[in-house]
Amino acid sequence: MPSDGRFAPSPSSDLHLGNLRTALIAWLAARHQGARFMLRIDDLDGGRSRPEIAERQLADLAALGLDHDGPVPRQSERLGRYRAAFEHLEAAGQVYPCFCTRAEIREASSAPHGRPAGSYPGTCRWLSEPERAERAASGRVPAWRLRSSLAPELVVDLVQGTVRVAPEDVVLRRADGGFGYQLAVVLDDADQGVGEVVRGADLLDSVGTQRELQRALGLPPVDYAHVPLMLGPDGERLAKRHGASTLADALAGTSGVKLAGVTPGTPASAAEVRGSLAASAGLCEPGSVPELDELVAGFSYRRLPTESTMMQGC
Ligand code: GLU
Repeated sequence: MPSDGRFAPSPSSDLHLGNLRTALIAWLAARHQGARFMLRIDDLDGGRSRPEIAERQLADLAALGLDHDGPVPRQSERLGRYRAAFEHLEAAGQVYPCFCTRAEIREASSAPHGRPAGSYPGTCRWLSEPERAERAASGRVPAWRLRSSLAPELVVDLVQGTVRVAPEDVVLRRADGGFGYQLAVVLDDADQGVGEVVRGADLLDSVGTQRELQRALGLPPVDYAHVPLMLGPDGERLAKRHGASTLADALAGTSGVKLAGVTPGTPASAAEVRGSLAASAGLCEPGSVPELDELVAGFSYRRLPTESTMMQGC
């Protein structure tokens, strides 16, 4: 049975070459098995999302020849779905109010207790009813967190191998009423019929939480493939500060990132950029310009590097 795939960019900035490489791998993984490939616009964060950026992201994917099946849902149009799922979890006693401010979380999670940086220290999870009522009476509007099992499990990632992941008490609903990424993404993937989630390795840590939410909401489990990130010459995740690194930059010959087979400072074709991205992921020879169907035929997760790819500047 082929497992349908997807790519789900957040339209807060243009896709850089690392994002495009992830999209290419996700597309190849789906097409190699004759599966459908869906797109989605992850514009849950209304403050940072721009419709014109979403349009450019879709145009970039099309320019690389990455076609898609079905409509392209926007998270901003699915709030009713998220609300219903949240209320289901609330009715099942699987959420709790969290009155912590960001500063309080930062302070509590910097204490030396071996918890991963940024994870919630659990302060409000253990409040008694009177303590909860006292905080509510103080006028602070709470966010709502998942009461996770905190139980680690082993998951076989199609690229990373067997990994130990643990769910976290993530925010499902913010104090301003907005919904959290983890809740939205499991509902979106299930509703789009996605069976294989291919995305950047920076999201590996969310698998434990997403697995748990899928179970709590009665959604089918999905397989995961967390693909290596592209890093700038300084070893940091590719970003704007590394200079021009979008498809438009590469096509115009102004890319600040060196692409195999492309002479720095000269314009490249979309097929050359695609070939270069594929080569950087071990999917073709550096400098070659394969047709898409050659890449589809030769695709295997086993060819991908497991480490991040360091790119050179130019
Ligand atoms: N929208 C997320 C991002 O652009 C990706 C979500 C996912 O792949 O699960 O980082």
